[in-house]
Amino acid sequence: MINLSINGQACRARNGMTILEAATENGFHIPTLCFLKGVNGIGSCRMCVVEVEGYERLLAACSTGVREGMVITTDSDKLTDYRRRMLKLLLSNHNLDCMSCASNGRCELQKLCNEYGVEHADRQGSRVNIEKKLPILDSNPYISYDPSKCIHCQRCISICHRIACNGSIKSGRLGNYHIVEAPFGTDYKSTSCESCGNCASVCPTGALILKREKEYREWEVKKVLTTCPHCATGCQFYLVVKDNRIVNVEAADGPANHKRLCVKGRNASFDFVQSPDRLKKPLIKDRESGTFREASWEEAISYTARRFMELKDKYGSESLAGFACSRSSNEDVYMLQKMVRCCFGTNTTDNCARVCHSASVTGLAKTLGSGAMTNPIHDITHDVDVIMLVGSNPEEAHPVVGMQIRQAVKRGTRLIVVDPREIGLARVADIHIKLRPGTNVAFANGMLNVMINEDLYDHDYVEKNVEGFDELKAAVSEYTPEKVAEICHIDKDMLTEAARMYATAGKAPIIYCLGVTEHSTGTEGVMSMSNMAVICGKIGREGCGVNPLRGQNNVQGACDMGAMSTDYPGYQKVDNEAARLKFEKAWGVSLNPEQGLRATEVFPAAIEGRIKGLFICGEDPMVSDPDTTHIIKALESMEFVVVQDLFMTKTAEYADVVLPAKSFAEKEGTFTNTERRIQRIRKAVTLDGEMRADTDIIIDLMNAMGYKQPYLTPAQIMDEIAQLTPGYHGVSFERLDAGESLQWPCPEKGHPGTPIMHVGHPARGKALLYPARFKEAKELPDSEYPFILMTGRILYHYNAFSMTSRSEGLMELEKEGYIELNYSDADSLGIKTGDTVRVSSRRGTIEAKARVGRKVSKGETWMPFHFPDSPVNMITNAALDEFARIPEYKVCAVRLEKKQQ
Ligand code: SF4
Ligand code: SF4
Ligand code: SF4
Repeated sequence: MINLSINGQACRARNGMTILEAATENGFHIPTLCFLKGVNGIGSCRMCVVEVEGYERLLAACSTGVREGMVITTDSDKLTDYRRRMLKLLLSNHNLDCMSCASNGRCELQKLCNEYGVEHADRQGSRVNIEKKLPILDSNPYISYDPSKCIHCQRCISICHRIACNGSIKSGRLGNYHIVEAPFGTDYKSTSCESCGNCASVCPTGALILKREKEYREWEVKKVLTTCPHCATGCQFYLVVKDNRIVNVEAADGPANHKRLCVKGRNASFDFVQSPDRLKKPLIKDRESGTFREASWEEAISYTARRFMELKDKYGSESLAGFACSRSSNEDVYMLQKMVRCCFGTNTTDNCARVCHSASVTGLAKTLGSGAMTNPIHDITHDVDVIMLVGSNPEEAHPVVGMQIRQAVKRGTRLIVVDPREIGLARVADIHIKLRPGTNVAFANGMLNVMINEDLYDHDYVEKNVEGFDELKAAVSEYTPEKVAEICHIDKDMLTEAARMYATAGKAPIIYCLGVTEHSTGTEGVMSMSNMAVICGKIGREGCGVNPLRGQNNVQGACDMGAMSTDYPGYQKVDNEAARLKFEKAWGVSLNPEQGLRATEVFPAAIEGRIKGLFICGEDPMVSDPDTTHIIKALESMEFVVVQDLFMTKTAEYADVVLPAKSFAEKEGTFTNTERRIQRIRKAVTLDGEMRADTDIIIDLMNAMGYKQPYLTPAQIMDEIAQLTPGYHGVSFERLDAGESLQWPCPEKGHPGTPIMHVGHPARGKALLYPARFKEAKELPDSEYPFILMTGRILYHYNAFSMTSRSEGLMELEKEGYIELNYSDADSLGIKTGDTVRVSSRRGTIEAKARVGRKVSKGETWMPFHFPDSPVNMITNAALDEFARIPEYKVCAVRLEKKQQ
């Protein structure tokens, strides 16, 4: 610490601080325009100048460090005069029309002019002519750039390059002048810009704006802090509300996003909420005519309850099932599984984790004792030596995590990408292992083989914290780099290099996603990831761990809340008598001791006539589950199907009753993000219609089915969850609303939560090394179906399309499905980019537009699964993993033909 004087007051500051930081920390205000903490400190606006004793000239506070004994003045006549002159200089080149400017009321230039009494420039500046030559760029659906309002502070350029790490907006030159080259002109689609809007969020003027900001003035709105409803990164933002209508989203400084947002979070988090397509009244179908009619809530509740109880009486509890929604809140999911267990009398409840990360839940629980991400996002993307990214494309599926990985690479972190596709991050990776789809276990065994043979593993950790090392060593001994190179179609030296890089790094997280889990050997793939981290002692430490990036916003919470056929809330096993007795006592019913069916087993059981009634909250298996034909058959086989949703989804069309639910913006609750962080969602608007919160609907149904469930608010439901769920014991709305950020396990009220799991030792005592052996995918290419098809997500859409398709801008950015092919395959089939391709598997044929390139290898293809015009799950394979019953979305065999026009 050093001593200094600011405005005559003795102050202390840390050595290395700037004058601006020291003054701010000691409570002094220094005006700034270009400065942005941690992002931009170029000192170009000259507003932050201060007087320092001993210096004749004024110094920029943002870029001058403090020194012992400095005597600083931040406010004086001289400074006021100087700042006024600087503001007039800016205005001399500025198109000053505040009345019609979108920034009016929030503009930092306007505020400073106000503060310093500057109304206009004294003369016209030399830039004005140059600005007139530059067009307004507003072809991007969301963002526009008006050069005549730009003060060249470079905040936008700095945030795009250093925080979003995209480098799409640049500094250019026109004659003698610096200009901003913004990617929002007519060619915006051919730029690398992701339309994330982070640049617009930091513009201090009205130069770079989100177009919708024109629709309101700052003083007309309220801002409601909430959690993004899309992916499980769990970004925090404010919904900006004017007259009971959401008009914008503004990023908040959340622990996972640090003020960043992606294109979906910033631009597509409210169009769907206010869509005219929202279901507004309960609907009951006349089975004979197949048409829906509107019904009152009273009728819909009593009819639904009666039909389920009739089926229970006729066929027994095991004939019923209920799926929870991984996009709805923890409180909704908790009540749904409680309804299934207490009213239906079965444990056949599940959520969409079954088709995305059930292999992580099962695999990591088996090896480490807890099936969740071990470390926080910030911890594994900042100050780490190596990141090993396996089967994960975070730039598209978890974009704010992707931005942080790009940032880590820029700072010097080495990156190993293991992926069959040349994803964006592969281009900046030190090593890209472009392995054959479905060979993750062989790859991991090859890595383990090198680590053990070259003695790169952590003997001490293995000795103290591990069981099964000898079995693993024996199992991987046959997976030599040569053999693995042959299985995976990779270079053996690259494998060896990757093993050395990961094993010898100080801090090195493994981050993985659906490329590991969505296989018939998904659980073994997950356990193989765990094996690598465990033998290297990279568990329970900062910047390490095994980190599955969960898919939907609350899929972690849906599993935590017990929407699983095997587990009560908090992963307490249904076949554990003590756990069952505990829940029986709390809920006042006797519970079924048998495990239920998993979601992927429910549909075959329905076709066989064993499942007769199904309650589906918010899921759309017609789009999201593999082999759609068998889903249709299952839905048609059941006697009674209820769908509770925001929209008339493809699945809802097959329902007998459709119940209109409220979205995340219309209710209170919590989501748990991928890093186990429990975060609030808050009510922002009340919309026209009879939509109801899921918990309210479920509570009414429970009472109508004869279970006395008192009405509880979401906060009271969380109290019940906390009482029964050890990892959530210390969680309450009160703590969250007081600003605490809690990651489970949070075992008691005063507990701060657990950012890093398995510290000291793995949760199960000792980590289990599971000796997985490589098995081929269930369906391999042959002469009839010679290509491998993989599926996945893209940046601009989210899962079953029902939310993002309601956003016009996203539809403009990407509106139809496609198939990626390798150049050489395309050549031999006579296919060019843009041609329509017929894609056939053993389960059907669909069509998609070709995108030819080198992203996929020869013999392999890839399609996004969102688009109804190319419904790829018509043709994917429903083959299931032995442990978690997760389907093999990532490998099936297909035939390709160019469609003749
Ligand atoms: S950018 Fe600011 S100062 Fe310029 S016209 Fe807009 S509100 Fe006024
Ligand atoms: S929208 Fe995002 S990617 Fe595009 S220029 Fe702005 S910050 Fe960069
Ligand atoms: S990264 Fe995910 S959580 Fe964050 S804004 Fe984007 S979609 Fe929302």
